[in-house]
Amino acid sequence: MDNCIFCKIIAGEIPSTKVYEDDEVLAFLDITQTTKGHTLLVPKKHYRNLLAMTGEESAQLFTKVPNIANKLMKNLGAKGMNILQNNEEIAGQTVFHTHIHLIPRYAENDGFI
Ligand code: 5GP
Ligand code: ZN
Repeated sequence: MDNCIFCKIIAGEIPSTKVYEDDEVLAFLDITQTTKGHTLLVPKKHYRNLLAMTGEESAQLFTKVPNIANKLMKNLGAKGMNILQNNEEIAGQTVFHTHIHLIPRYAENDGFI
């Protein structure tokens, strides 16, 4: 999709720090490190957000979450993780390519409420 920043990251046109990659998805560090290791998991195919995907398409994305989340937590020594996902501007979506936030948690006051 033209002018989509995450499509450009997937295509390698914009640099990113990759956390995980396979044929269907890419996980890379969020430019804003809300906590250390804050990662975005995206489908390689462009969708505006989760609401624009079928159940099957969203399942293909979400099925990757536990494995990636657990590896991330283990590598970083995190004690927990917030997993969240925004759809449309009113709900805080700023980049209109489906993404899941993986936010490792280390302590109560580690930067994320
Ligand atoms: P949203 O607010 O749409 O749920 O989340 C979008 C996220 O994308 C934000 O947390 C923001 O920091 C991140 N982001 C925006 N532009 C870039 C970029 O060019 N590179 C990376 N790695 N993250 C970005
Ligand atoms: Zn896109």
